[in-house]
Order: sequence, then structure tokens, then C-alpha cells
Amino acid sequence: MGRKMLLTKDEGNSLVAWYRENKRELPWRDTGNAYHVWVSEIMLQQTRIEAVREKYIRFIEELPDIESLAAVPDDRLMKLWEGLGYYSRARSLKKCAQTLVSEYGAGLPADHEALKKLPGIGPYTAGAIASIAYDLPHAAVDGNVLRVLARFTGLRDDIRDPAVRKSFEAQLQEYMTASGVRPSDFTQALMELGETLCAVRSASCGECPLQGRCTAFRKDLTKEIPYRSKLKERRIVERTLLVVRDHEKFVIRKRGDSGLLAGLFEFIGTDGSLSPKEALQETEKLGFQAMKIMRLPDSKHIFSHLEWHMKAYEVLCGEITEIREPYFALKKKELQDTAFPSAFQTYLKWYSVR
Ligand code: SF4
Repeated sequence: MGRKMLLTKDEGNSLVAWYRENKRELPWRDTGNAYHVWVSEIMLQQTRIEAVREKYIRFIEELPDIESLAAVPDDRLMKLWEGLGYYSRARSLKKCAQTLVSEYGAGLPADHEALKKLPGIGPYTAGAIASIAYDLPHAAVDGNVLRVLARFTGLRDDIRDPAVRKSFEAQLQEYMTASGVRPSDFTQALMELGETLCAVRSASCGECPLQGRCTAFRKDLTKEIPYRSKLKERRIVERTLLVVRDHEKFVIRKRGDSGLLAGLFEFIGTDGSLSPKEALQETEKLGFQAMKIMRLPDSKHIFSHLEWHMKAYEVLCGEITEIREPYFALKKKELQDTAFPSAFQTYLKWYSVR
């Protein structure tokens, strides 16, 4: 005898009915376009819906299809991605678009295995595209879906454990195949439930279509489940930024092709907490004639695995005439039009109001 299904047919149907009735209007929803599903899913990884909404609209307006994404200049792509963080996602999107143009006639294949082999597309995104765009019975288990299913089944295992995710993926796939539920609605219904009623801090079980057989609700365990082990503490890195400028231009630098914030623009920075004297010496070492130094506000930026604790100086120099890559000299307006990682937003804002 096979194992018990994750949900009954009626539960799946109630969930889908609840979704159809209550779903939020989102610009990427119900467009029937696999490219839209793909771009939105990549943008939404580690980023809140509200932060994505406007960026997504602008991105699709400017890059309406896979061909335009494959051909966009890197700097423009970074500008469109500005503020979303994790810029490697944007680079992977473009790389994947180029593969799709050369190998798939500029379309996303309606095949889960083929999707998983594409650059930057893992099991979650492949499942989301296959089910939401192509109505194929494949699961897309993100953190929201994991939370719903762990609470529903009363699972107390660590949801960071990849085996937990794999097991739910297999059970969902089995359910979708056997129940005849519409994969597109079903997958989005589970995601929507996790983002709205079955939220991290509060579960609104009174309105939930799964309440009848939900273990966490029946046993009052929504605060204990899901269990998630603690991540290792982030490493703290002291950094000093040098906003080198003359009366007209600011010097920025392009970071190297690999590692943190690869290929992105930054204010000149160095590890360690430099005194004003050391900051002046560092500026002179780079070939700029420093005239005056001023301390700017401190700031902090949190990456997934480390934190930058930044102190910053503005170093006013004599006229900057010669400059070579990876350094660039930009006027204030150009500075505001260039894509910078959010790590430097404090300083961009500082100059935008001055
Ligand atoms: S009943 Fe409550 S805990 Fe269970 S799935 Fe619904 S919202 Fe989540």
C-alpha cells in the first residue's frame, strides 16, 4: 500500500478555491508568460514583495523578453537591479537568457529537467516555472511553503535540512499528479498561504482553508513549528571608504570579476579602520593629490555571511585629470545615474541632498 497522501483531494480543492478568491494582485501574476514567472521568482529570492513590485515593472518594461535581456549591457542591467541586492542573480539571469537564445530559440523549455540544467535555475525556480507557467505537476518549495507544510504535518525536524525540502517536493509532486489539481493554482496557493495567513510570526488559522487537519493549529504549536537551526554568526569586517573627489567629479572604482559584489561600482574602500592620516596616505598612494579630508557618517551593511562596518572620509583633491580603469571620475549627476550596490546607499544619499 502506498504512503498516505500529503493532502486529501478536498483539502487541495479548498486551498485552490481560497486562493482564487483571495489572491493578491501582483504584476507578474496570471500573465501566462514563463519569462515573467522566471524574472519575478529570481527577484523575489531573499527580497520582499513590496521591494520587488516597482523594480519588476520597470525591468519588464525595458527588457520585455528573453532576447532583450540577453543583449542588455551589464551596467544597464545593474542599474535595473539596483536596490535588490545579491547582484549575482542578475548576472545569472542574463547568462541564462543568452543560453536560451542560442539553444532554445529564446524561450524557456516546458520541461522540468531541462530547466534545472540552465545557469542560475535550481530545483525551486525550475518547479515554479514548470508549474506556474506550464501547469506541469512539479513542486516549488520555498521557505513559505516549507513553513505551511511543516505546520500542517506537525513536522519538528530542522527545515534547513535539504532532506526535509526533498521529501515535501516528492510528496507535492505525487499529490499534484494523483489529484488532478491544477498545478499552477495549487503551487501559487501554497506560496500565497505562507506569505499571508501562515506567516512567520503569526498564523491566522481562523481563516485558513487547511485548518481542519492542521497539526500545528490543533496542538497549538504554530510558535514552535517550523524549527529552524541557527545560522553561523556573520563575520564583522571593518572597512574604510574614501570618497575621493575634486570640485566637480567623484572617483569610483569597479570591483574585480569575482567575489563579493563582483563587477560592481564602489567608492574606493579598504579593509581596516583608517585614521585620517592613514586615509590621506592611502589616497596619495593611489596617485591623487589630497588637499582636505572630512569625516562622513559611519554606516553598516549586512550581507548573508558578513557585515561591513564602514567609516568613511571625503578626500578633496586638486583637479582630477588623468584616471585609468578600474577607476572612473563621474560628475554628481552621473554618480546618481550609476548602479551602486545598496552597501553604499548612505553615501549616495549624502551627496544627493548636498
Ligand atoms: S491552520 Fe494555521 S498553522 Fe495550519 S496551515 Fe493554516 S495558517 Fe498555518
